[in-house]
Amino acid sequence: MSKKKGRFAPSPTGRMHLGNVVAALLSWVSAKRDGGSWLLRIEDLDPQRSRYEYARQIEDDLSRLGLDWDEGGLDGIGQAGPYVQSMRGEFYEEALRRLDSQGLLYGCTCTRADILATQAPHQSDGRVVYSGRCRPAAEPPFASVLEPASAAASATGEAGEGSDPLTAGRRPALRVAVGDEDIRFVDRYAGECVYNLRRDCGDFIVRRSDGAWAYQLAVVVDDALMGVTEVVRGEDLLLSTAQQIHLYRLLGYEPPEFAHFPLITNADGQRLSKRDRAESLESLFARYTPREIIGMAAYRAGLIPEPMPVGPGEVLGFRF
Ligand code: GLU
Ligand code: ZN
Repeated sequence: MSKKKGRFAPSPTGRMHLGNVVAALLSWVSAKRDGGSWLLRIEDLDPQRSRYEYARQIEDDLSRLGLDWDEGGLDGIGQAGPYVQSMRGEFYEEALRRLDSQGLLYGCTCTRADILATQAPHQSDGRVVYSGRCRPAAEPPFASVLEPASAAASATGEAGEGSDPLTAGRRPALRVAVGDEDIRFVDRYAGECVYNLRRDCGDFIVRRSDGAWAYQLAVVVDDALMGVTEVVRGEDLLLSTAQQIHLYRLLGYEPPEFAHFPLITNADGQRLSKRDRAESLESLFARYTPREIIGMAAYRAGLIPEPMPVGPGEVLGFRF
């Protein structure tokens, strides 16, 4: 078997909190336990929220905690770089072309209000399901959306630029078609999972209307091209995993192994967020040593039987 490669893929939109440390530690431990390597990728696709300084801070925090990466980071250690998503547009562009040449893309001009107003019967968890409002009437293959604008516009029945005052000048978001079929996978934590993308999310966005690449497309392209063999992350990304498996298949890549752990919660039982200041690393570093913080994260992750000061390497020694 080839060597394991795990990864941590933070979005640089703020200081990490204990939940992020748990995610980093669990993926680090899982890769290292079997003599594998660990990669750091900066997921700065959202231009409004991402900041270089946050990425730097994440690297400093990981280093201080002893969570060292073998590949990636801002300095781009390794052969599969760059490891910063905002610098990887050419790879996403190429994947987009391959989806387009299969006739699976179409432009969507819906606003958020349109999507909410037309969404399929409501999901109990508040998830939004795209109704297919802009989907061409005929089944795929659809006409290319990347060919010269006029051809694409007439073929998809989309208003040409200037003809509709509301959409004129606005670039459509691009969606990839999903089929009415079950996507099954076995997750190391969550077990057997089944999603039907038509029912659970609908055709989903691969490039936003502002031109930004969608997380789903970028993460698949990156994990595949970077040779990641296992993805360890929070269980809030289980449905995303089904979407990603759809893209793995369309792009002809082998999906990695998946392990989605239960998210840790705050004292009110809610999942940690950037608003839980007491759990942010800024506050934790003011009160605890790096080894104490790793100990808390390891305990919350179920890796050690009680909170105690440890380094990440010592966590490997526990068979708990
Ligand atoms: N950038 C994503 C986040 O911070 C990571 C998603 C993933 O691990 O695939 O939530
Ligand atoms: Zn639409």
